[in-house]
Amino acid sequence: MSPSLDSSHIPLPSEVDVLVIGAGLAGLSCARLLSQSGINVHVLEATSSVGGRVKTDEIDGFLLDRGFQVLLTSYSELQNQIDLEKLDLKTFKSGSLVWADSQFHLISDPTKHPWDLIPTMRAKVGSLADKIRMAKLKSRLLSSSPERCFDPPEHSTQDELRALGFSQEFIEGFFRPFLGGVYLERSLHTSSSLFNYYFRCFSSGDTALPAKGMQRLPELLAEDLGDRITLNTSAVDILENQVITQVGSSIQAREIVLAVDGPSAPGLNDSAANQFKSATTAYFSTHNPPTEQPLLVLNGDDDGPVNHLTVISNICPDYSPEGMHLVSVSGVGIKANEVDDFPKKALEQLQGWFGPSIKDWSHLRTYFIPFALPEHPAGSLPDLNGLELRHNNLIQIGDYTTFGSIQGALLSGRKAAELILKNI
Ligand SMILES: Cc1cc2nc3c(=O)[nH]c(=O)nc-3n(C[C@H](O)[C@H](O)[C@H](O)COP(=O)(O)OP(=O)(O)OC[C@H]3O[C@@H](n4cnc5c(N)ncnc54)[C@H](O)[C@@H]3O)c2cc1C
Repeated sequence: MSPSLDSSHIPLPSEVDVLVIGAGLAGLSCARLLSQSGINVHVLEATSSVGGRVKTDEIDGFLLDRGFQVLLTSYSELQNQIDLEKLDLKTFKSGSLVWADSQFHLISDPTKHPWDLIPTMRAKVGSLADKIRMAKLKSRLLSSSPERCFDPPEHSTQDELRALGFSQEFIEGFFRPFLGGVYLERSLHTSSSLFNYYFRCFSSGDTALPAKGMQRLPELLAEDLGDRITLNTSAVDILENQVITQVGSSIQAREIVLAVDGPSAPGLNDSAANQFKSATTAYFSTHNPPTEQPLLVLNGDDDGPVNHLTVISNICPDYSPEGMHLVSVSGVGIKANEVDDFPKKALEQLQGWFGPSIKDWSHLRTYFIPFALPEHPAGSLPDLNGLELRHNNLIQIGDYTTFGSIQGALLSGRKAAELILKNI
């Protein structure tokens, strides 16, 4: 799935205007915008392909994203930086199927799917008042701009949901698994600003996947950079206006952009290490999908390791070979020493949901990403309007400098490019 970039054929420049370290979404976004403005920019990437945390593997004809993740079409940076037509996006049905009290319940968005109004109102997850509160919240958030979602006061999502009057039953049955999957934490201590932002994004646009896998997104950004990316090359030291690689090469640059992941940054400069959350996704193939619906399925009961699942091939048929289906099953807060048992325990749990038909499911691969998303408790988000990206001799970007998401990574990349274009 990686683009045809082979570091052995791309000589490292000895001098450039801007050197970007890291070819994740943040680094690619920054480099591409600079390159489009005629700046002599080069990107160093430690691994063998672009994309960082957004990668897709091809296994036995199945496309497996490295951990279940989705694009929200309402992300403004996605709309402004990417030609979405080229991603050939396939969309989820808006809403979720919730497993609670031994049956499935549909919680849909009736403004997008009017036929789902009655089943959603009748769903035995929360009360009618909870569904009306959701509709009111949606209408309030959509009546103002996405930026206003970050206005104070800010507290934990859990406190925000209570303050909005949602019942504990609805928080447990719907919000905890739904937001747990978005935040990668189920205690809902994440900032209420992010709750407002994501709730607005889910309400105003579609949830989507590129037809040929999530890695199409970074590949699209990289296409415009051509041979300005050198793979398999780590930066090991940053001096003033100079970067040293693992093979001892030195590159001079007027500006250096550190676009590595949060855990790698402290090894290259004196930034503090952030706290991160892990993600676990197991993929299964089957001839008999447990649902034909292009929906997210949530665990509304607080038991078992599964938080959410999706029949990916119901959304993107190209993710699986003809006649087969691909199911992604994700857990939240799974510890490293529990990962090996995750597929087996997930299947035991899901047999209770779908019956013996899941005996035909075949395990393809499990991904455990230890540093999937930065922690964002209340009070920890930066001022997104006045982002301070310059630190001494370098500019530091990445999702952990804004907020952990595709939008956050692309936003930091654009802001860095604008900062450089003002000064160079
Ligand atoms: C499982 C999972 C699910 C997710 N779900 C969603 C979702 O549904 N929606 C959403 O919006 N976001 C989601 N995210 C978050 C999103 O993918 C990330 O926020 C985003 O991709 C981060 O991009 P980045 O460029 O900041 O960092 P990264 O992607 O981590 O890129 C950093 C790059 O720097 C490279 N690097 C590190 N050290 C060096 C070095 N010394 N020299 C050279 N290169 C180096 C790394 O190899 C990497 O390529 C998810 C993430 C994961 C892992």
